[in-house]
Amino acid sequence: MDHGLAKDIIAAVDAGFDAQVQMTVNVTALPSLRGQEATAQDFMADQYRRRGLAVDRWKINVEDIQDLPGFSPVAVSYDNAFNVVGAHRPKETKGRSLILNGHIDVVPTGPLDLWTKPPFAPHVENGWLYGRGSGDMKGGLIAALAAFDAVDRLGYRPAAEVYLQSVIEEECTGNGALACLQRGYRADAAIIPEPADNGYDAAQLGVMWFQVKVRGRPTHVGHAGRGVNAIESCFPIVAALHKLEDKWNASRHALWADHPHPINFVVSKIEGGDWTSSVPAWCTFDMRISFYPGQSLESVRNAVEAVVREAARNDAFLANNPPEVVYHGFQAEPYIVENAEHVHAVLAKSHEASFGEPLVGRHITATTDARFFGLYAGIPALVYGPLAEDYHGFDERVHLDSLRKVTRTIALFIADWCGLEKRAA
Ligand code: ZN
Repeated sequence: MDHGLAKDIIAAVDAGFDAQVQMTVNVTALPSLRGQEATAQDFMADQYRRRGLAVDRWKINVEDIQDLPGFSPVAVSYDNAFNVVGAHRPKETKGRSLILNGHIDVVPTGPLDLWTKPPFAPHVENGWLYGRGSGDMKGGLIAALAAFDAVDRLGYRPAAEVYLQSVIEEECTGNGALACLQRGYRADAAIIPEPADNGYDAAQLGVMWFQVKVRGRPTHVGHAGRGVNAIESCFPIVAALHKLEDKWNASRHALWADHPHPINFVVSKIEGGDWTSSVPAWCTFDMRISFYPGQSLESVRNAVEAVVREAARNDAFLANNPPEVVYHGFQAEPYIVENAEHVHAVLAKSHEASFGEPLVGRHITATTDARFFGLYAGIPALVYGPLAEDYHGFDERVHLDSLRKVTRTIALFIADWCGLEKRAA
């Protein structure tokens, strides 16, 4: 790319940054928790429409995607589940097409009294934008749009198709990104500006959610010994699952060899019992686990079920009333970025022009929607994004200077990857 043009693009991002932050504040103020994303999606559709993009807003239908690879089963209704895509189509396609994908869904806030300020009243302080979803990933979602704007401000549009995608369900299934593939969206590359510490994700683990449903025998607590406590019966099962976690951490995949603890099994929800003076007859706990490339979903499910079965066998009651393992939510395969040298080369060059530092890759211990593009559509997909802290925690925040520089990178990437054409005045 012409050096003068690169300088102009960087300047255009910087010039639009205050407006970008304001837009990020506005969308972060919309509490797009699972099942409540529609208002925020309307906001995104409106933004895309204002820029003359062709807007596709549709309700996800489970029947359309349930037989596709990568689908994760759901227990919730999709009655209010909308994806939004804004499509730019050039006058004449000259360059390479691009998907800029981000998710609008955010995770629950947890107890509000542990936030310094309310999670959906976003505010800027000491160079950070605070609020639930500011980092994960409304900062990145708007950065993609702001990058498109910066190019536009210079009088250009991309000389190839660019699809700005705002999807739901990233935090629990990935079915939003999957629905974009089912809908037919394809491109020569996908970039996802999830929080990534100003770097890119070269590999991600597999992630699985499951529930273990345990039964007990209820009695009056006055003679508790005659009953079986379903809640306390879970403890040895959880302990046995943690032994499997230890085993997988001890036999590392080479890409995570230097990571202190790549595999994390977490009991993240638990429910059980009906009455404080009754021995509980039931308990269900939810667990999130991770696993390495090379392990299949089936082998992971087999390993989990074998551990649960074995732990139950040590208990006289559970041996005859085996716990049930139920899968819903993430059934996410691991993803190592492959065949992406050409995408990486352009991203690395763009990053260096923006940050003045080389681009660094990471091997992350979670999952992202990148897997859908890479594994099921042959689209090289790179997660590349800003520095954010305490996402999924309290006082979530994204670093504004990092966000600005990431936006510059994306704008430079668009110009280089897609090429540019003069916009109609
Ligand atoms: Zn995210």
